[in-house]
Amino acid sequence: ENAKLEPGALAEYYRSQFSGLEGVTETFAVMDPAKGNELVRLERLGAEETRVAVSRASQAFKHEWNMSKVTAQARYDALLRWEKLIRDNAKDLSKLVTLENGKPIGEAAVEVAGGADSVAWFAEEARRIDGDVLQGAKRRQRVMVLKQPVGVVGAITPWNFPFSMITRKIGPALAAGCTVVVKPSEETPLSAIALTYLAHEAGFPKGSVQTVCGDAKAIGEELTSSRDVRKIGFTGSTAVGKLLMAQAANSVKRISLELGGNAPFIVFEDADLDRAAQALLGSGLRNAGQTCICADKVLVHDSVHDAFAAKLSEKMAKMRLGHGLDRETTHGPLINQRALAKVESHVKDAVEGGANLVLGGERVKPDDMDGFFYAPTLITDVKLDMSCFREENFGPVLSLYRFHTDEEALEVANDSEYGLAAYFYTSSMRRSWTVSEGLEYGMVGCNDVAVTGVTTPFGGWKQSGLGCEHSKYGIDEFLEKKAVFMTI
Ligand code: ADP
Repeated sequence: ENAKLEPGALAEYYRSQFSGLEGVTETFAVMDPAKGNELVRLERLGAEETRVAVSRASQAFKHEWNMSKVTAQARYDALLRWEKLIRDNAKDLSKLVTLENGKPIGEAAVEVAGGADSVAWFAEEARRIDGDVLQGAKRRQRVMVLKQPVGVVGAITPWNFPFSMITRKIGPALAAGCTVVVKPSEETPLSAIALTYLAHEAGFPKGSVQTVCGDAKAIGEELTSSRDVRKIGFTGSTAVGKLLMAQAANSVKRISLELGGNAPFIVFEDADLDRAAQALLGSGLRNAGQTCICADKVLVHDSVHDAFAAKLSEKMAKMRLGHGLDRETTHGPLINQRALAKVESHVKDAVEGGANLVLGGERVKPDDMDGFFYAPTLITDVKLDMSCFREENFGPVLSLYRFHTDEEALEVANDSEYGLAAYFYTSSMRRSWTVSEGLEYGMVGCNDVAVTGVTTPFGGWKQSGLGCEHSKYGIDEFLEKKAVFMTI
C-alpha cells in the first residue's frame, strides 16, 4: 500500500500546493456515502486560490511546459510514466474511488484501468499532432497549417467517475501541450488530488496540473472569466453546463461539454430477451444508475413486455446492496441526500400517477449503514410524461413503457432534450440500420451497451453536450489551428 494515497496524506498534499494561503480557514468534509461518515476535511478554496493556480498554469504554459521546449516525445514519455504510476497504484486508487464515491470495488478497478488507458491513448496522440501543407492562392505562396495547444485549460468534473473524468480531460490537455487547473466535484476530490500527485511524481511541472476545489461557483466564475484560461472542459449537469457556457461567452473561450443524458433502451419483439435483460441491468444500474449513459427510459414492445419485465425482476431481486469495499456487494449507495431525494420523488410521482411498482421503491439500510442506499427499483406501465421516464433519473430505477410500433418507439426515444447514448435490441438487419440511423444520439448501441472506449468518440447531441472526448478526434478539442502563409 502507498501511504501517500491515504485520504489524510492526500489532504496534506492538496494543502501543500497552496503554501502562502494559510488564510483559508473554512473546510469541507469528504464523505463515505455508504457509511455516511467523514473521510477527511479539505480547505474550501475559492476565487483567490483559483487565480493563483491559473497564474501558475499560465507560467508553466509559457516556460516549463512550453511546446517550443517540450517535444512531443517528451510529452509522450511523461504521460507513459504517469500511466505506469496509475497502474502500479491501481489497488489503492480503486479503493479511494470506492471510499469517496461508493461504487463497488470491481467497478472502481475498471474505472481506474480505463483512466490509465486514456492516458496511454493520449500519450500516443501527443506524437500524432500533425500539421498540413496547403496550396497558396498565388504562384509564389505556400501555406502551412500548424496545430498548437490552446493554452491553460479549466477542467470541471463530476463525482460519478471521480477518476476517469479527470484522465480523459487532463490526458489530452497535457498531450496537446496545454496546462490544466482541475476543479473536481467536492463530493469526490481525493481521486483528483491523487492523480495530480502522481502526475507530479511522473515529472509534470507542478504548475502544469493543479487541483482546486471548495466553492464551486466562485471557482467556476474565476475559471470562466480569466483571460488566461483559453478553454473550459466540463462534465456534469446540463444546467451547470449552460451556465458555464454563458459565462465563458464573455471571453469567447473554447468549451467542451459532456452533459446529462436520459438514455432510451428499446426492446423490439424480435430481441434476444435474456441478452437484452442482462445488458439493461448492466447499463441501467451501473454505479447505482449514476452514469450519464445509463439506460434510463426503457421501451418494450407490447408482445414481449411482460416476459421481459419478469426476467428483469428475477435478476434484480438477487442484487446485493452494501459497502463497495465488501466483495459481495453488487450495488453501492447513491452519492448524497439530494440524489436520494430526487429518486424518491420520481418514484412517488410514478406510483401516484398509476404506474405499477414491481420491485423496490424504497430507501434501505444494508448492514445497518446510514448511507444513501436505494433499492433497485422496477416500474412498469409508466406514462410518457412521468418524471422517472422524461428526466434523467440518476438512480437504480428502471421505468418500462409499452410500445406498439417501430415508429412510435423511435419517436418516443427521440422526444427528449437529451441526445447522449441510446440502445436497442433486435435480431433484424433492417432494424439495426434504420434505428441506428434514426436515433438522435451521439452513441448508439445495437445489441450492445458497451459504448465507451478510448478509440471511439464520446459526446452528446442536442443538450447533452458539445465536442467529444477520446478517439482520434478528441485531441483536436485542445488544439488551435494556425495558417502560416509564406512568399517564397
Ligand atoms: P451534479 O448535480 O450531478 O452534482 P453538477 O453539474 O452540479 O452535477 O456538478 C458537476 C461539477 O460542476 C462539479 O464539479 C460541481 O462542483 C461543479 N459545479 C456546480 N455548480 C457550479 C457552478 N456554478 N460553477 C462551476 N462549477 C459548478
